[in-house]
Amino acid sequence: MAHSSRIVLTAARLATPLTSIENAVVVIRDGRIEALGPREAVAIPAGAPVTDFGDRLLAPGLVDLHIHGGAGRDVMEGDGDALAAIEALLARHGVTSYYPTTVTAPLDAILRALDKLGRAIAAGAGREPEPGRAQRLGIHLEGPFLSHARRGVHPPENLLAPTPALLERLWQAAQGQIRILTIAPELPGAAETIVAATRLGIRCSLGHSDADLAAARAGIEAGARQATHTFNAMPPLDHRVPNLLIAVLSDARVRAELIADGIHVHPLVVQLLLRCKGAEGVMLITDAISATGMPEGRYRLGPLEVEVRNGTCTYEGKLAGSVLTLDRAVRNIVKFAGWPLEQALRLATVNPCAAMGLSGGQGALQAGGPADLVVLTSDGEVVETIVGGRRAPAPAIA
Ligand SMILES: [Zn+2]
Repeated sequence: MAHSSRIVLTAARLATPLTSIENAVVVIRDGRIEALGPREAVAIPAGAPVTDFGDRLLAPGLVDLHIHGGAGRDVMEGDGDALAAIEALLARHGVTSYYPTTVTAPLDAILRALDKLGRAIAAGAGREPEPGRAQRLGIHLEGPFLSHARRGVHPPENLLAPTPALLERLWQAAQGQIRILTIAPELPGAAETIVAATRLGIRCSLGHSDADLAAARAGIEAGARQATHTFNAMPPLDHRVPNLLIAVLSDARVRAELIADGIHVHPLVVQLLLRCKGAEGVMLITDAISATGMPEGRYRLGPLEVEVRNGTCTYEGKLAGSVLTLDRAVRNIVKFAGWPLEQALRLATVNPCAAMGLSGGQGALQAGGPADLVVLTSDGEVVETIVGGRRAPAPAIA
């Protein structure tokens, strides 16, 4: 913006989302929230355009820590066109920030994707956010440090043993833009690699793992504080022999990713997870693939061709990501667990941002923080998404 200009948003309700404000006013200046509060407490600057959203709810933009693609494109394509298409789809679903997530592929292909994504993220970081497009915050590296026993659809021939040296090679390829690493803690070399990653500022997420309790605890001791799509690609609950799943459920230091599409995890088990981990311990993710926002058919996931039918993505009979959108995941929490919308929103805003240690005020609406907002109906349907204080009306969503 050439000169500083303010816009003002008003609505019946605002969820920070840790608190609720009735008759809310948000004053936005140069992409940031200058002031926010109830109408009687916040002065509307003279001359600033005011948009009243009536009985809608204002909330922070959603943040997706685990997403592979959408709109027919895969993040591993890495180029500006692919990312632009994905980012436009994300914004239509209320997402204002995301972590493009790679899958296991031949090492050369991963390095190439990391190189492109690293450049794209660095380029985006220096610029004003584009209206109507989610912002890329960093790479989530899902593979190659995964267990053969719990690889899901990640190609077995491309799985590699973790070492700090190989991590360094991936980090260099990505120009230091890796922020999340999914890793199976039971693999030889995993503990040293988790320590090295944590030192680089990468959040380590335990997953695609067959770890027993001791290996899971060793991963947590080494620094891992997240779990990748909890319940999926890990050993199931065994009440006599605790394992990775029990370590995740019982350790309050570990935040659990959840694919709340009702397919990957049964709605009743979603309820159980929420009771177990509480309002702070779960992070909604989509694990969405290129088929998201597209008609059903055959789509790319990294090196694989995945079949999408009846809202389910499979490859050789195994679940292969999802076509979930994060706004629907939030609505599903309301539906599956009976949570109020404001509380469900935490799982896709405050929690992922806290896990990532974001210090810029993302994930909660507050004065001084970025003006990344979503306007929702009382049912949690997206009306409009505002990225960096810039409005771009959302087209109707099916
Ligand atoms: Zn994934």
